Amino acid sequence: MELRKRYCWTFGILFAGILAGLIAVSILLARKTGEELDRAKLTTARHGPFTLHTRATLSPASSESAPIYRLPTTVQPRHYELFLQIHLPYDEDDTLPDALTTRGSHVNITLRTTAQGVRNITFHARHEVKENSVSGYIKQFDKDAVSLLEFTGNGTVDGVFKIVSVDFLKVDIVVVHLDRALLPDRDYKLRIQFEGVIGQNMQGLYRSQFVKDGKTRYLVTSQFEPIMARMAFPCFDEPGIRSRFSTTLKYPNRFTMIRTNGQAEGEAITDGLWLIQKYTTTPAMPVYLNAFLVSDFELTSVDAQDPSEEIYPFNVIARKEFIDRGDAAYALQQGKVMMEFLSREFNQSYIEHLPKLDMAAVPDFNVGAMENWGLILYREARLLYRPKVSTAEQKSGVAGIIAHELAHMLFGNVVTCSWWSNIWLNEGFATYLMYMLMGQANPSWNTKYLFSYWVIHDAFQHDSYLSTHPLYDPRVENNTLIDNSFDPIAYAKGASVIHMLKGVLGEIGFNRVLKEYIRANKLGSVEHGDFLREVEIVALEMGFPAGTMSRYLRSWIEESGYPVLMLDRGSGTDPSEITYTQQIFRYPTLQDNDSINNSTVEPTLWDIPLTLTNGAPGAPLEQETAKHGCFLSKAAGSLRSECESEVLDYPTLPASDERIDNFIIANVQQYGFYRVNYDRHNWNRIIMALPVFLDYPTVTPSSVLKNNVIRGQLIDDSFNLARAGFLSYEVPLKLIHNYFTLETHHGPLASARDNFRHLYVMLEGTVHHDLFVEYMRKLMEGGLYTNSRWSNSWTDADVPSHGDSEGSFNRVMANNIIINLSCYFEVAACVTSAVTRFRRWRESGIGFGPDTRTNNDIQTKEHMLCYGVRHGPVENWHYLRGLYDHPEATTSDQRTILRALACTKYEELVERVLAMVLDGKSVRPQDQSAAFAALGRWVGRRTWDFLRSGWSKLTGSTSTIMADLSRYVKTERHLAQIQQLYVDVGGKDGSDSTAFEKAIEQAQVNVAWMAAHADEVGGILKTLTIGEPTPLLL
Ligand SMILES: [Zn+2]
Repeated sequence: MELRKRYCWTFGILFAGILAGLIAVSILLARKTGEELDRAKLTTARHGPFTLHTRATLSPASSESAPIYRLPTTVQPRHYELFLQIHLPYDEDDTLPDALTTRGSHVNITLRTTAQGVRNITFHARHEVKENSVSGYIKQFDKDAVSLLEFTGNGTVDGVFKIVSVDFLKVDIVVVHLDRALLPDRDYKLRIQFEGVIGQNMQGLYRSQFVKDGKTRYLVTSQFEPIMARMAFPCFDEPGIRSRFSTTLKYPNRFTMIRTNGQAEGEAITDGLWLIQKYTTTPAMPVYLNAFLVSDFELTSVDAQDPSEEIYPFNVIARKEFIDRGDAAYALQQGKVMMEFLSREFNQSYIEHLPKLDMAAVPDFNVGAMENWGLILYREARLLYRPKVSTAEQKSGVAGIIAHELAHMLFGNVVTCSWWSNIWLNEGFATYLMYMLMGQANPSWNTKYLFSYWVIHDAFQHDSYLSTHPLYDPRVENNTLIDNSFDPIAYAKGASVIHMLKGVLGEIGFNRVLKEYIRANKLGSVEHGDFLREVEIVALEMGFPAGTMSRYLRSWIEESGYPVLMLDRGSGTDPSEITYTQQIFRYPTLQDNDSINNSTVEPTLWDIPLTLTNGAPGAPLEQETAKHGCFLSKAAGSLRSECESEVLDYPTLPASDERIDNFIIANVQQYGFYRVNYDRHNWNRIIMALPVFLDYPTVTPSSVLKNNVIRGQLIDDSFNLARAGFLSYEVPLKLIHNYFTLETHHGPLASARDNFRHLYVMLEGTVHHDLFVEYMRKLMEGGLYTNSRWSNSWTDADVPSHGDSEGSFNRVMANNIIINLSCYFEVAACVTSAVTRFRRWRESGIGFGPDTRTNNDIQTKEHMLCYGVRHGPVENWHYLRGLYDHPEATTSDQRTILRALACTKYEELVERVLAMVLDGKSVRPQDQSAAFAALGRWVGRRTWDFLRSGWSKLTGSTSTIMADLSRYVKTERHLAQIQQLYVDVGGKDGSDSTAFEKAIEQAQVNVAWMAAHADEVGGILKTLTIGEPTPLLL
C-alpha cells in the first residue's frame, strides 16, 4: 500500500436549517461560508438565471388506483424447470400464422416461504394485451392448469394443494389462492401449464425475420430486460430475485441453431417433426437474464481460457452467409481477449457458472445488445465487422459494445442491482469497464480520450436539465419508470462518477474496491450502500478519515445534476487567493427568472474533488486526489488555502504576472464530474496560449494544452457555460477561432462539432444564420480542410489502415469529422470531392460489397453517400434507394443508406424518406429513430411536423425520437405543439410521460436560449476575422 500525503479534510459546521429532504428541486445559489457569501451572491446575480419550476408541469391524463408492482417477499423461487415449445412452421415454405405461440409449454417452480400463514402465491405474467398489439403475452389459464406439490425434507411428495382460484390482476400480476397455508422452510413445486403468444415487436419472446434467396426466413429470439420475461413464461420478474433455470426446448426439427443460456445436455429427442432438447442448469440469476434463439444460423468458435486455465468454448453466432464471409472474426478475436482479461483481472471464473459463452447477432433487436448470461444477443450491425466495408467508427463501436456486454458478466450477472432504482450499478460499471476492456484488446486506441468524449460529455448534456434524476432514483417503482430508467444518467453519469472515484483513490485503491465488491457480493443483489461499504473499507486503509469517502460519494449518487466550480484568481499577488464557488449547472428556461433572493430552498451542493494544474512547463497531467488533491467540502464551503497547498505543489506565478502561460486549469483531464469556470483573465490567457503551444511542431515546449482531453474539456465546458448563461459566448467562440485550424485530434474536434451543431440548429431561420454558415465555411477552409496538418484532406491522399496505431486510428476518426463539417458548411472542394467520389463509386459497381480501392474510400463512405446525394444529380438518390431494396443489403447497409437518403435537398424526396419510415414495411422499427435523427440534421422542423402527424404509426422507440427532435423545437408555437401532443397522445397511454417531460423542458430551454443568446452570438461572429487570433475584451 502506498503511503499518502497529508490530507486536508476540514469539516466545517453545517449550516443551520439544511433541509435534506428538499433536494428534489434545487436552485442555483452557491452556499458559502463567512466572507465568501457576498461574493457568491454577486457571482450568482451576474450569472444566475435559474429558479425553480416544479418537476412535472403536466401530468398524464389518466391515473389508476395505485396498482401493485412489487411482489410480496414471503415466497421465494429457487429453481425453474422450464419447458418451452416454439411453434414455428415445420416447413419453411408454409405460410406463417398471424401469431406464433408456445402452446404446450409448462414451468415447474420450486419455491419456499419463510413466513407463517402464507395462503397464496403471487408472481408475474403479462396477461393483458392492447387491441391490435403485436406484443407477446401469456393467455390467461384457469386453476386446472395450476398445481402445487409439497415435499418433505428428503425430497418426496408430501401433499397436494387444492387450488382455490387464480386471479389475474392489473400490471402483470397473477395470484394463486391455496386451500391452506404453506409451511416455512419446506420445498414446494408450483406447476403451471400455459400458452404464450410470441411477439413481433422485439420484446419478450419474439419473432424476427430476414430475406435469403428471395424468401423470408423466420427465427425466434428474446429480449427480457427489464420486465419482459413475464411475456414469455410465468415468473418472479424482479432483478433482486435469483433462481436457477433448467430449460428444455421443443422446436421444429428443421432448425439447426438452438441456443439458450446453458449447454445442450445429451442428444435431442425426436417427436415426429419436433425435437426436444434439454440444457444444463444456469447459476442462480435474475429471470431477465434468460435468453433464447431458435434459428438456422451458423456458429464460429474459439477456445477461451479461464483463470483456472480450464478451457471453454467462446462462440459467435450469426446468419450463415455472414459467418462464411468472415464478418464474425473480429468479434471472436476481441471477445476472447476481453473475456480472458476480465476474468483474470478480477480473478473470477466464468465456467464456474456456465460451460460456454455465445454472442449471437440477430436481425431485429430493440437495443444494441443484451448481456444474457451465456447467450449475449446483439443487433447484427453492432456485432459484425466486415473488412473492406466497415469503418473505423463501426469497428470501435463493435469493440465497445462487446466490451460493455462482457463487463456485465461480472457487473450485472454475478452481481446484480436489487431493484431498477439502482440500475446504474449494472450499467454504469459496464460502461466504465468497457473502456478498460477496449483498451486491452486495442492498446493503440487511447481509450481514455474516448471515455472523456463519449461518456463524460454525454453525461453532462443529459444531466443539465431539471427533468434529470439522481443515479439512485427512488421514484422508480412502476413499469413506465422502470423502462425509462435505462437512460444516459444510468450509463454515462454512472460511469463518470465511477471514473471520478478512480481519480480520487488512484488506480490501485480503486481496483481493490472493485475486486472486493465483486467478491463480497458474488451471486447476490446489491444496493448502492453495498458498493459504498467496499469503498469505505479501502478508503479507511488508505488513510481517509472514517465515514468521509462514502458520505462524499453519496452526494453524487443521491442528488441529481452536477456543479460548476468557479475559480477566481482575482487581482491579488498570492496564488492562495484563488476563490472557489460552486453552483448547480443547469440550462435555464424562461420560467427560471429571478428567484435567487426569494427562494427558501437550500441549494444542492457537492463535495468536489479538486485537482489543479497550470501552464508552467512540466505541470502535472495526472493527479490522484489521494496523493495530490483534496475535496472542496460542501459542508465547509471552501477550503481554499489547505487545498491549494496540497494541490499546487509546483511553481505558480502570481495572477498579475502577464506571462502567456500563467493560467490555471482545474479538474485535470475531467476526473471530477463537474464543469469549471474561470475569471476572464484566466480564460483569456488560455485562449491566447492555445495557438502558441499547439503551433510548435514538436513536443517542446511542453504544455498541458497539448493534452487532447484537456482541450476537449475546455471546448465543451466553455460552450456549455455560455449556453447556460454562466459565461459570455465570446469565450468559446474566440477559443475556437484562435486555435482550431491547428486541431488534429478527434476528441476536441468532436466536442467542437457537437457544440457547433447546437449553434447551427439554434440560429437556423434567424438573421444570424447566414453569417454563422459563412463563418464556419471560412473556418474550415482556412486551415482544417485544405491545409490539414497531416497534409490529408479529402483529396486522393489515402489515410492509413485504421486500428494499426494510435495515430492512424485518430487520423481516420478526425478526418471524418473534418470532412463532415466541411461538406456540411459547403466548402467547395469538399462538395466537389463528394460528388466525384459518388460518381466513381457508382461506376465501380461496388455497392456495399468490399471496396478494394483506398482506405480513404472505405472510411469516408458515409460522407460520400450523404453529400453525393445532397449535391449530386437526383439520380444518386434513386440509385441508393434501389440498393436499399437489394436482396443482399444487410441491416447495417440499410441503416447507412437510410441516413444518406435523408441528406437530399429535394422536398418530395424528403417526403418519400419520411413515408418509408412510417409505412411499416420498409424500415425496421429498430432503425426508425436513426432515420428521424438523420432527417433532423437537415429538416428538423419539417420532420417534427411530420412526426407529429404520424405519431400513432411509430413502432420503434418513441422516447428516443422525441428526445432527438425536441432539439429542433425553439419557438413558442412548436413548444405548444409538443405540449398538445403530450395531452393528445402521451398522456393517454402514459407510456412516454418521462420522455415528453424531457422533450418539453428541452424545448423550453431552447426558447429561452433564443431570447438570451441569438443576438449575442451573431454580434460576436461579426467581430472575428479568420486568421487573426483575438483576445477577450477585458
Ligand atoms: Zn448494459
